[in-house]
Amino acid sequence: MQFNELNLNKPILKAISESNYDGPTLVQERSIPLILNKKDIIVSAQTGTGKTAAYALPILQQLFHKQDASKKGKKIGALIISPTRELAIQIGESFQNYSKYTNLRTSVIYGGTSIEPQKDALRKGVDILIATPGRLLDLHKQDEVHLDYIETLVIDEADLMLDMGFIDDVSKIVRLCPEDKQSLLFSATMPHKVVMLANSILKDPERIEISPTSTVAKDVSQVLFYVPKPKKIELCLHLLRNTIKGNIIIFRRTKYGVDKLEKTLLKNKYKVASIHGDKSQNLRQEALKQFKNKEVNILIATDVAARGIDIIGLDSVVNFDLPNVPETYVHRIGRTGRAGKIGTSYSFCSADEKAYVGTIQKLINTQITIENNHPYPLDPKAKPQVHIKQGSKHRKGRKSEASKKNKKRWY
Ligand code: AMP
Repeated sequence: MQFNELNLNKPILKAISESNYDGPTLVQERSIPLILNKKDIIVSAQTGTGKTAAYALPILQQLFHKQDASKKGKKIGALIISPTRELAIQIGESFQNYSKYTNLRTSVIYGGTSIEPQKDALRKGVDILIATPGRLLDLHKQDEVHLDYIETLVIDEADLMLDMGFIDDVSKIVRLCPEDKQSLLFSATMPHKVVMLANSILKDPERIEISPTSTVAKDVSQVLFYVPKPKKIELCLHLLRNTIKGNIIIFRRTKYGVDKLEKTLLKNKYKVASIHGDKSQNLRQEALKQFKNKEVNILIATDVAARGIDIIGLDSVVNFDLPNVPETYVHRIGRTGRAGKIGTSYSFCSADEKAYVGTIQKLINTQITIENNHPYPLDPKAKPQVHIKQGSKHRKGRKSEASKKNKKRWY
């Protein structure tokens, strides 16, 4: 997705293009349309996911028609509350940046610093106010801040807000804003008390979850190898000889692929077991037992067969085939790097899998390190192999009932 598909106007898009972002991050892609639709949302996303722009951009869009109100006539249309001064300042900088081609005015107020300049700024007229709770209530008491025209209220880092003891202040601020405002709540984690707060503020909210993926990916060192499809087995053997050690799980997409790789590794004297959906439960249990008891150190599996199975704390995960569903990548690599240990994931990408890399990187919000220094590099110009359907020798084409019954599961 591109930013220009998100219904943002030209001055905002111009500012974004100068920030040199490739495209919206996941939290932006999911939040912006909902916010523009006037929905309340509750988002679990950490700093680093692009969450500030996820609310800043639609807020600027929604207030854009007010940009030309005379300075004195300006009324605060959006209020962002932040638990810390540093975050408030950072949010203010983001708003300044994204609004630089509009006449919308942003102001930041926070404690621990002289109050007079903040009063001056408020008197000059503000469209968007970013504030820490204590100073905001202070200025409100002094009749310097008017919250009667708030259209959108954002509570950022809600979990930290509650940990810092701001619950009563936040509740007070919510009550000072109009009843029919839009409310957006962002939190890195979602403990019960945050959910309670959200329930008391948000109306029929949509829930967006981003953070678990980035947390999982954080403790895993991820490496990507571009390699021609027929050379993947050679690359795997090369890495097993030289680089990858310890307890390893190798993921393949199909059961056929699992069987083929298992045969090759056994021939090369590796200690291997495998699981996939066409193996009996007994054989799968036996394979898992061997792996857990360390009789073998390599397990080859399909995603479906490995789902829900307690195999964690691995040294390495090999994505022999890249998954087309990005969440699957996260689940796979999440099996390593637990309990403070840094694990490693090795991903093999052939020409036809290149598109998956982009969607995976977007989901995990991380660029995967590319390793070019290996014996089987992929020509960057290599095109995916196109399989031309030969058609059935039996021209009627339809499968018989008997052949349908024989159809085996591919996973
Ligand atoms: P945040 O999660 O809001 O703290 O943002 C983290 C960093 O991501 C900030 O430095 C932003 O400038 C940057 N950022 C925000 N949106 C994008 C995007 N779409 N692409 C790349 N970087 C971004």
